[in-house]
Amino acid sequence: VSVMPARDAPTLGESAIRHAQALQKKLFIDGEWHDAVSGKTLPVEDPRTGEEILRVAEGDKADVDKAVIAARRAFDEGPWPRMSAKERGRLMFKLADLMERDAEELAQLETLDNGKPIWYSRNADIPLSYDHIRYYAGWADKIQGKTIPVDGPYWAYTFHEPLGVVGQIVPWNFPLLMAAWKLGPALAAGNTVVLKTAEQTPLTAIKIGELIAEAGFPNGVVNIISGHGPTAGSALVEHPGIAFTGSTEVGRKIGAQTAHALKPCTLELGGKSPVIVCPDVDVEQAVKDASFALFFNHGQCCAAGSRRATLLRAAFGPGPRHGSPWAAGPTAPYMGLYVHEAIYDEFVDKAAKAAAGRRVGDPFGDVDQGPQVDRDQYNKILEYIDHGKSQGARLLTGGSAKGDRGYFIEPTVFADVRDDMLISRDEIFGPVQCISKFSTLEEVIRRANDTPYGLASGVFSTNVDSINTLTRGIKAGTVWVNCYNVYDSAVPFGGYKDSGMGREKGEYALTNYTQIKAVYQPLVNPAWR
Ligand code: NAD
Repeated sequence: VSVMPARDAPTLGESAIRHAQALQKKLFIDGEWHDAVSGKTLPVEDPRTGEEILRVAEGDKADVDKAVIAARRAFDEGPWPRMSAKERGRLMFKLADLMERDAEELAQLETLDNGKPIWYSRNADIPLSYDHIRYYAGWADKIQGKTIPVDGPYWAYTFHEPLGVVGQIVPWNFPLLMAAWKLGPALAAGNTVVLKTAEQTPLTAIKIGELIAEAGFPNGVVNIISGHGPTAGSALVEHPGIAFTGSTEVGRKIGAQTAHALKPCTLELGGKSPVIVCPDVDVEQAVKDASFALFFNHGQCCAAGSRRATLLRAAFGPGPRHGSPWAAGPTAPYMGLYVHEAIYDEFVDKAAKAAAGRRVGDPFGDVDQGPQVDRDQYNKILEYIDHGKSQGARLLTGGSAKGDRGYFIEPTVFADVRDDMLISRDEIFGPVQCISKFSTLEEVIRRANDTPYGLASGVFSTNVDSINTLTRGIKAGTVWVNCYNVYDSAVPFGGYKDSGMGREKGEYALTNYTQIKAVYQPLVNPAWR
């Protein structure tokens, strides 16, 4: 593994810091920028060095309460739910245009905050985010009820009405994109929103607050709070309906809280997604696909975007067969890799070489992998690597931290991973590939489903029967066949089992943010009776 700070990395990094310093660094409540009621601030670290770059206001319960009051007023009295759906759509299109105008700034902020290579931010996170807002801007005037024929002298129809105020809580791995996945359908349906960003990555959402104000959204429609989970996050859960993306552990708590209060709740949680490689594949190609699937975004992926396929291809040359890796978006579900015994040795050898060839370094340079997001994640991943070593998995490459500053970890590959090992069972959320051998489809389906998670999965085969058996047998919300990480705003995404409740993206996500009102009316003198 070579460390490759590219020629322009220092300049770009400095430019990102300047952009960050020029941001508001406050809480966006009722269309204005506020310090936290407590006066507290949160540090924003540079994951390349672990040093603090700046501080932003740290919201807690008092600020969340203020934001919810503003959102409630905007919903109950303001123009947002009353304006025509077309007009709401126009404002959302305007926001998407402003995001596209400032795409480079947003990309630099995302890389600085999260540590992902600048090309990911430029070609995946940021364009996918404004694409997503645009996709839902198009939905704003297409959310329709039905007319329903009924018995007797009546007719009936339904409205799909907004819920009102919704709380949205997002993680740090795709900070802007996860916010866009939530803001898009909520706003299209006419709700008002309080969004809480992850404490590690507040920057791009603050920039979105600035753009929302510039686009001319009515005050209070979107409120943005930076803050910690146990303070700001749990205060938000006390209030309105909640849409949450994050860990299963926190999701479970939120689910229990909202169920007790009978409030709407969607949960997009963790995953340990099986990728199954059958003996009939082109091994070289499958290694590339599997390597990209796991190591994309440093393994900090729950699952990501097809619309950017062209851009990614332009940036990285022609992608492999099926175009899959270059069609990748941001959030590859963290995976366990099952390779058929007939090709196992060749696959393992090539996978180790592919991982060892990944360039790790300054994410503003020409690299495949930057630092992990913060010290907690870095320590957690290194602990998992130690478990892998001590539980007897065969370490093929990597296995250590990299450098003496920042949160860099070597791309790591373990082979001969047994199903009972911790690295096989848990979501590591880091650049650690775990490879196991399988013999039959029945066996691999049983093993792949032997997990509490069910977010996504991948199947690599050229045999139609194997593909059919596996796509039907795997219990997960998404199955990619001979591709991975292909996402589109129009296609639902979400988990089976402990990976969540509800679906984001596509028409399906609108159901999270609407409630149905049925209306009966008498039919006087029905001409057709
Ligand atoms: P996390 O659960 O620790 O935090 C996620 C968010 O929840 C943060 O904003 C955090 O501040 C907030 N939070 C923490 N405790 C809270 C509480 N008690 N009440 C309310 N809010 C609270 O998760 P993370 O480590 O930031 O993110 C990584 C996890 O997210 C992984 O498990 C990953 O798989 C998952 N994820 C899932 C998807 C998906 O679509 N299924 C997408 C991205 C990430």
